[in-house]
Amino acid sequence: MNTTLAVTANTQQYINLEDKYGAHNYHPLPVVLKKGEGVFLYDVDDKRYYDFLSGYSAVNQGHCHPKIVAALIEQAQKLTLTSRAFHSNLLGEYEKYITAYFGYDKVLPMNTGVEAVETAIKLCRKWAYQVKGIAANEAKIIVCDGNFHGRTINVISFSSDSTAKNNFGPFTAGYTSIPHNDLHALEKALQDKNVAAFLFEPIQGEAGVVVPDAGYFKGIRNLCDEYNVLMVADEIQSGLARTGKMLACDHEDVRPDILILGKALSGGMLPVSAVLCDDEIMMTIKPGEHGSTYGGNPLACAVAITALQVLKDENLSANAEAMGNLLRSELKKLNTPFVSVVRGMGLLNAIVIKHKNPDAAWELCLILKENGLLAKPTHGDKIRFAPPLIINKEQVMECVSIIAKSLQQLNNI
Ligand SMILES: *Cc1c(COP(=O)(O)O)cnc(C)c1O
Repeated sequence: MNTTLAVTANTQQYINLEDKYGAHNYHPLPVVLKKGEGVFLYDVDDKRYYDFLSGYSAVNQGHCHPKIVAALIEQAQKLTLTSRAFHSNLLGEYEKYITAYFGYDKVLPMNTGVEAVETAIKLCRKWAYQVKGIAANEAKIIVCDGNFHGRTINVISFSSDSTAKNNFGPFTAGYTSIPHNDLHALEKALQDKNVAAFLFEPIQGEAGVVVPDAGYFKGIRNLCDEYNVLMVADEIQSGLARTGKMLACDHEDVRPDILILGKALSGGMLPVSAVLCDDEIMMTIKPGEHGSTYGGNPLACAVAITALQVLKDENLSANAEAMGNLLRSELKKLNTPFVSVVRGMGLLNAIVIKHKNPDAAWELCLILKENGLLAKPTHGDKIRFAPPLIINKEQVMECVSIIAKSLQQLNNI
């Protein structure tokens, strides 16, 4: 049985437009948003919601953060795009800022997350041939089952999600997939001399916020050192203060060889991604071998510097840590038969729904929406709870009561 929750005629007309004129490559919740402010979103009927998705962790700093908006506007009035055919007065400043911030020799700026992943893969292969000495076209990259690194043909080539792959072949070669959170499987895969890199998400976000065992990141670091293989962390979702540290790898004081960032690098203003590594890897790419028209544009540079500054100025790692602990402990206290697992790190969290109705997670998200909180199921029975990192204690408690009330209403479906 489906809960048919009413959608206003006003809301419906916007949905109809998208249905008629847009590709149907997403299945959004039936809510039409027109405004965002901090932890809140507002729909076209002026109803207010807590945002528990944060644009898949792109708006860690909160919606329309005034400092980031100001940086955007100021730079947009001066210069937005030069292409990399010419230098700009901001690119070097940004590169200096972000490399010092994360402690790497160099950065390669891109736009979307998946482009940064593709860039990292190209760097791994160049390094494999030019530094490690792997024979031409033989380099392999180890990835994890259940991974999500984006949507290009090459990146879906090593996805284990049939929905992402079906009828998009032929796929690219050179990848070996092992279980997530399995150091034994990693060591076994590393016996192959042609392995160049291990690409992983420290916490698998799309897979449903799958947090690995303590010691996993250190274990990866040790194995990659032992076998002379690059440790490549996709921190597009787990990074930038989301899990209670600047990077998820920081929880074990581990430094990846290649760091991939995106999403909150612009605080939700525009697509800004980056690959960071040291010279031994970065300098294998020469002029003309890789690039992007918009990568490193002055607008992106100004926005990214400010977005990173806000993370530190507002102590968002510490707040994510504290509010995440509060959220999980309060969720665990809820007396409900419908939540089998509460898990997460900092403010990257998920609950797993247990219910006789296989659509219960979707139904719960519709009920949450009615009650003023927006979240989206991932992989069927999991719901991610990832509000902007500026959320305060009072707001967390209000959200917990919205979730409690909504779970009670799940009785009736
Ligand atoms: C979102 C995401 C990507 C892809 O980013 P896009 O900007 O959508 O291309 C890659 N890796 C991870 C871990 C992500 O969460």
